Amino acid sequence: MPKIPPLDLERQFTAIQPEISAAVASVLASGNYVGGAAVSDFEQQFAQYVGTDHCIACNSGTDALYLALRALQIGPGDEVITSPFTFIATAEVISRVGATPVFIDIDPNTFNLDPEKLEAAITPRSRAIIPVHLFGQAAAMGCLQAIATDHNLYVIEDCAQAVGATWKDQAVGGIGHVGCFSFYPTKNLGACGDGGAVTTNDPEIEAQIRLLRDHGRRGGYTYETVGVNSRLDSLQAAILSVKLRYLNRWNQQRQAAAERYDQLLQHIPGIVLPKVAPEATSVWNQYTLRITCNKSGERRDLIRQYLSNLEIASMVYYPLPLHLQPVYTALGYQPGRLPHSEQVAHEVLSLPMFPELTTIEQECVRDGLKEALAGT
Ligand SMILES: *Cc1c(COP(=O)(O)O)cnc(C)c1O
Repeated sequence: MPKIPPLDLERQFTAIQPEISAAVASVLASGNYVGGAAVSDFEQQFAQYVGTDHCIACNSGTDALYLALRALQIGPGDEVITSPFTFIATAEVISRVGATPVFIDIDPNTFNLDPEKLEAAITPRSRAIIPVHLFGQAAAMGCLQAIATDHNLYVIEDCAQAVGATWKDQAVGGIGHVGCFSFYPTKNLGACGDGGAVTTNDPEIEAQIRLLRDHGRRGGYTYETVGVNSRLDSLQAAILSVKLRYLNRWNQQRQAAAERYDQLLQHIPGIVLPKVAPEATSVWNQYTLRITCNKSGERRDLIRQYLSNLEIASMVYYPLPLHLQPVYTALGYQPGRLPHSEQVAHEVLSLPMFPELTTIEQECVRDGLKEALAGT
């Protein structure tokens, strides 16, 4: 059997190498390595892609979230409600601005925030919610938005894994007050290094974020607030502009690969395939299924090991929800408090997923998974 990687950025690069090389060469020849036309062009193209008035490029998805919280003046004494079943950055930035993350449980079918849990978590200190569009699928924005509006909360979308996904035909990143994107290489739109962006329709938020990402600089050497250095460099911007032109095609290829997995795996007992809500689309940053009857995660880990012995990669996102992480012990969440998040953390297994994944590779994954399930 061929070796099957979790994703394969070399295949992607090979397919578009001439264009990437030309873009890189042109930036190198321009002598403009930070800022300049490459960055502003990309910002414009990305705003257009998402359908927002503004896009501010920055250094990473983490910084995008941090800048959004800062621009909304969220800080000490404030609470921000989010998912415990996400990458650490989503909660880390809440802590970094001095606010307190409040975790609510997820819908185990979509792995996204369960809107029914939101209202009970709102207190007079709540300032914002950060829905995460996990694994590529848009979160339940309709209900979340409605409740947030009722309670005067900001909605900051963590779109790091979901560039191009929609909720009721609206692109993520343009639904809430602010959208935060990551261009880390493994995301659907990946730079050749770190990168991120914030999208918004609010000109005041835009102005604040531009100020904050450049040391709080109003212009020249006048500083209005304590900012950060979080610029996207011109090389990354030029590379992203090339890749943005392919993004819809790549997302369609991921969609097709997800449908093939659905077909190939549908009758295998002991697994639950990923579900997409009828109002949502997914851009399949991950194809994540659940291994059931798996209270401790042991069986899932054995299956993962079995696949690994066959040289089939699989990943566990995320093995321990954030409310139970050592870093958040002080928040006082006990095991059992957010049962769906805790259960799926034992069950999830992400299969190889990237636009260039072939049917033959997916059939190998199916065969390997069947064997693994039979043998464990
Ligand atoms: C990748 C990711 C981030 C952080 O993005 P970086 O560019 O790595 O800083 C934030 N949230 C989620 C859900 C992510 O997957």
